[in-house]
Amino acid sequence: MTVKKMASKSDLKTVFSKIQLKKERFEMTSIKSRKYALKSILKWLIANDERIKKAIYDDFKKPPSETDVTEIYPVVSEIRHALNHLSAWANPLKVDTPLSMLGSTSYVKYEPKGVCLIIAPWNYPFNLAIGPLVSCIAAGNVAIIKPSEMTPNTASLIQAMITEIFPEKEVVVVNGGVDVSKELLTLPFDHIFFTGSPNVGKIVMRAASDNLTSVTLELGGKSPAIVDNEGDLVNAAEKIAWGKFLNNGQTCIAPDYLLVHEDVASEFSKILVKQIDKLFGSSNNFSESKSYGRIVNKHHYDRLNRLLEKAITDGAEIAMGGNTIEDENFIPPTVLTNVPMSSDIMQEEIFGPLLPIITYHSLKEAIDTINSKPKALALYYFGTNKKNREEVLSKTTSGNAVINDCVIHFGHVNLPFGGVNNSGIGKSHGKHGFLAFSNEKGVMKQRTGLTSTKFIYPPYTDSKKAIISFLKKYL
Ligand code: NAD
Repeated sequence: MTVKKMASKSDLKTVFSKIQLKKERFEMTSIKSRKYALKSILKWLIANDERIKKAIYDDFKKPPSETDVTEIYPVVSEIRHALNHLSAWANPLKVDTPLSMLGSTSYVKYEPKGVCLIIAPWNYPFNLAIGPLVSCIAAGNVAIIKPSEMTPNTASLIQAMITEIFPEKEVVVVNGGVDVSKELLTLPFDHIFFTGSPNVGKIVMRAASDNLTSVTLELGGKSPAIVDNEGDLVNAAEKIAWGKFLNNGQTCIAPDYLLVHEDVASEFSKILVKQIDKLFGSSNNFSESKSYGRIVNKHHYDRLNRLLEKAITDGAEIAMGGNTIEDENFIPPTVLTNVPMSSDIMQEEIFGPLLPIITYHSLKEAIDTINSKPKALALYYFGTNKKNREEVLSKTTSGNAVINDCVIHFGHVNLPFGGVNNSGIGKSHGKHGFLAFSNEKGVMKQRTGLTSTKFIYPPYTDSKKAIISFLKKYL
């Protein structure tokens, strides 16, 4: 069942209760049925990739090849990985028996959490709705998905897709805006997987606390990239140009700002400009590039323009770009130098194609700058100095860290993906996604008759006290 815009509270309760009825049956489904469901999604993706590319192009002119690489392939890869490993992930995990519990055996049983809510953002509107669904299904759950209202074409397609694939009520799409999302959050879900901004993440966590629902929060923030003075500057510039301006800069793990060593800052910004030209045409005709998308809507276009104008008023200089086109929500790749740290652009998550370059004198200064901000979702270090690299890794904290590249770790199915505190809570992808949607139930099997624990039952005689004291000392 699909609820259109502005579903009432009772509509949503009905959807929820119907999907709950399915819960018991679904929880008992075998690994075979979960794999069948995953294969059905895979089959649909392969058969309908043109529909996906068209919907996302209609939403924000995302180049179709970019949709292949960043929306379809990551989901395909998640499904293939889950199909290959699901049996092993779901297998009960035997654990060692501590000496104090001799005679017992124990294992971890991975059981589905139950009815899950997946709330998706607009920036990778397909990937970030269906990617979590893969983990959710792999773990044996049922789900309600709430796509972003900001990308209506993709939201409608997701709705059609789920109706085409799933027998009614195993997975339900509820489309709508903030009001619908708020209503959904009042329902007693067993798990909520939210991807979006830290501010809304707080609202989600507050609402989840009413039902003590567990949450995975995939949030955002300012992800820094350090460019050291020892290293290949062309290599760094090429990778940063790609990672930053992919999806028009609207990527949670895009380098938000650069910290470049003062010895190479001037040379680096010239190389960066050249590399950006190489990827997206030339500075004169970025708006005609077939490889460059648009800002999702006027609200975000205005927000980014405000950040840019304020940065310039505050003293920043434009090294490249800046010439926006309002009718098209077009903002070209824009590189800024001399940006004051106090300017809004260095205080808020940018989430668009504006790239401030901050120069640093000592590595400590760069690390202090990073640590003066909330913990990042991703941190990038470009350079070949092993000591510096290790110092950055050990003196900063972030959800993920990548050396000599950026953004690509999203596609690494064996790495946990996610943030820390302000940038997120919990991890996703591959086995980590499976675990996020599973209850890790510890099961202990004790023998009957005499057990080691009985030696410490009351009454606390002197001999029992001696055993307890031995336990504390040695076991
Ligand atoms: P958002 O937080 O505004 O919206 C995300 C979802 O929450 C949408 O479906 C929206 O309908 C819903 N929502 C919005 N306001 C709500 C409210 N008051 N109550 C309940 N639900 C509400 O985020 P966005 O603008 O869609 O996406 C951009 C943000 O997401 C950025 O901060 C970005 O860094 C982050 N992000 C994180 C990841 C990640 O994997 N960590 C991935 C993509 C985007």
